[in-house]
Amino acid sequence: MPAHLIDGKAIGAAVRAEIRDRAGEFSARTGIRPCLAAVLVGDDPASRVYVRNKGKACHETGMLSRQIDLPATLPENDLLALVAELNADPAVHGILVQLPLPGHIDESRVIEAISPDKDVDGFHPVNAGRLLTGGRCFVPCTPLGIMKMLDHESVDLKGKHAVVVGRSNIVGKPVALLLLARHATVTICHSRTKDLPAVVRSADVVVAAIGKAEMIRGAWLAPGAVVIDVGINRLPDGRLVGDVAFEEAREVAGKITPVPGGVGPMTITMLLHNTLEAATRMATSV
Ligand code: NDP
Repeated sequence: MPAHLIDGKAIGAAVRAEIRDRAGEFSARTGIRPCLAAVLVGDDPASRVYVRNKGKACHETGMLSRQIDLPATLPENDLLALVAELNADPAVHGILVQLPLPGHIDESRVIEAISPDKDVDGFHPVNAGRLLTGGRCFVPCTPLGIMKMLDHESVDLKGKHAVVVGRSNIVGKPVALLLLARHATVTICHSRTKDLPAVVRSADVVVAAIGKAEMIRGAWLAPGAVVIDVGINRLPDGRLVGDVAFEEAREVAGKITPVPGGVGPMTITMLLHNTLEAATRMATSV
């Protein structure tokens, strides 16, 4: 029997409806509209689409967004000065600087300049450190969206073997920590892992965050495994595919996310969640 499809679009829409309600209640109670400032440096077309979609999603949930477009030649110090201004602006609750940045700008310097209280991407080392130690923090949006999907599907993680393929700071490492916090036994794999198919075969839950089209094959999976495919890869024929060979995998897996329509819609949804959370925390701390 083919696997149950985990419909990120439907789950994302349901979560966004909840966020819209909560944002409406928050604004009615405090007179504050949560506001996300999105900074775009340069004119990378994909980044432009991402930033536009984030702004649109804010408006659809009753929040404000401010898009700041800057030229690719912007000096690093000017970007740091803008981030300092946004940090100090009480009308801005969340700040995101769209990555990647042009080569002459040090990304980690910019990320570290964002106030941890407005770091709705969850990339600041203070938030990363708190995630590691179990403190209150902003969790990066894709890993948070993955956990939301697993909860929505009532996947019991306690004592289960979760295999995360990929160890980036944005996806692999934080999702591994979140799974660990939920009492899964977690293995993190990467490009030097020996016999990846054998490791994947031992997983109850597989999270693929590699960036290699259809690398994880159906034959690598244990029957009934839950498969979360984070990858977004464009094939030469224009098709968008994940890191998992979907048609093969769905014959073996118990539950699986499609690409597109799986993890992707959850990522922006969790950015909205974090922006509302930032505004709520700011309102209660004054
Ligand atoms: P990175 O390129 O930062 O990390 C990729 C990871 O995959 C690395 O840890 C790398 O290992 C590992 N890897 C590469 N090749 C292999 C291999 N042959 N075997 C095992 N592991 C391998 O990518 P990201 O984490 O940023 O993104 C991963 C994918 O997820 C991309 O397709 C990206 O587009 C997508 N993505 C999707 C999002 C969404 O909203 N749906 C959001 C963010 C990302 P090593 O460390 O050893 O190099």
